[in-house]
Amino acid sequence: MDINISDDLLKQHLIDPELCIRCDTCESACPSNAITHDIRNYVVDADACNGCLECISGCPTGAIDNWRTVHRGAAYTVAEQLGWDHLPPAMGVAEKTRQGIPASAATPMENAYTREAPLRAIVVENRRLTAETSASDIRHIVLEAADDFAWLEGQSIGVLPPGLDAAGHRHMMRLYSVASPRGGDSGIKNRLALTVKRVLEDHEGKPHRGLCSNHICDLQPGAVAEITGPHGRNFLMPDDPSTTLLMICTGTGIAPMRAMLAQRLQRLHTISGRQILFYGARTPEEMPYHAELLALPRGFAETEFAFSRVDGQPKRYVQDALRDHTALVTNCLSDENCYIYLCGLKGMEAGVLAAFEEICRNSGIDWHELAGKLKHNGRLHVETY
Ligand code: NAP
Repeated sequence: MDINISDDLLKQHLIDPELCIRCDTCESACPSNAITHDIRNYVVDADACNGCLECISGCPTGAIDNWRTVHRGAAYTVAEQLGWDHLPPAMGVAEKTRQGIPASAATPMENAYTREAPLRAIVVENRRLTAETSASDIRHIVLEAADDFAWLEGQSIGVLPPGLDAAGHRHMMRLYSVASPRGGDSGIKNRLALTVKRVLEDHEGKPHRGLCSNHICDLQPGAVAEITGPHGRNFLMPDDPSTTLLMICTGTGIAPMRAMLAQRLQRLHTISGRQILFYGARTPEEMPYHAELLALPRGFAETEFAFSRVDGQPKRYVQDALRDHTALVTNCLSDENCYIYLCGLKGMEAGVLAAFEEICRNSGIDWHELAGKLKHNGRLHVETY
């Protein structure tokens, strides 16, 4: 993006402190070290930012995609931005890029409800998706949202846990991908589904009760959840019915894929593209929506499950399944009408990208060149944590 509007005016890149969940994706993606942070905010140094937009596509909330026209020499300083709770008002219409978004994707509504003015949504369903005998408690939570809360598949909502942190501030919102299509869960308007795993241990396996996931998993029908959003524009699906979707996910990373499959299912007779799903979980009993996916209409979706902990079977990850389907994956990577989505564990991202690279190498395709084009044309979307 050319950030130089004129000799006098500059398009300044800013991060919305209200939406930022401090995930560090932008700072690690910035090639010019323009993004920095303190314990409070992530900010952009106007002197170092060249408008390359490398940071945009990874941001799960869209906090990164904010621009203000300012007079050169009067740009907001890093010190000023570090003190902000809100962005300064925009002069004129707020500008947003469509970098990395499929051309036929619908324009999303974003950030209609915020941490300071959240939506009080009513819980209408809380159903366990994993076997009662399984240690993993993953739930399908359905919320009744408001008429003006119009999400698209691939967007997220924020959930605000009750209570205050040690500094007396409201807890940071946690993001969850919406698991239902724009028309509502089970076709019921305004019904928004989430796929939430109850966190009972930290990344090292030590006991740890996740504040927000336990709050949500304990909500019973009739209870109120405070939510923000809809958030994000980096995981939107193409609306063009001739496009193919290659969806790769692990565990609760199925949430946005379920929304996309349901959206396509509702338009079944107009769809000429393919729906291809590679999905990994420990066992069928621990795989959210396993039965629902098996019950999809014949011929609608091509599903390949990878189970990592089934007794008597070798450990299998989604990237192993991709390697078992080299011709299919090569076709998807080469087909300009195919859009690729990755969601789930961070480790899976590296494994899948390595599998893509290997599959390309064996087919004489330059993966690094292709990856750049895929991102630029909105054909590769990654949401991993
Ligand atoms: P999980 O049950 O821990 O893992 C799912 C599967 O992935 C297991 O079979 C696991 O195998 C396998 N796996 C582990 N490491 C892998 C690697 N390096 N490559 C490929 N597969 C690997 O998953 P989860 O707890 O549901 O976590 C899903 C992730 O999705 C979380 O990080 C969550 O934050 C994220 N997410 C969730 C949402 C949402 O809306 N809920 C949205 C976006 C992203 P083993 O355990 O046997 O090794």
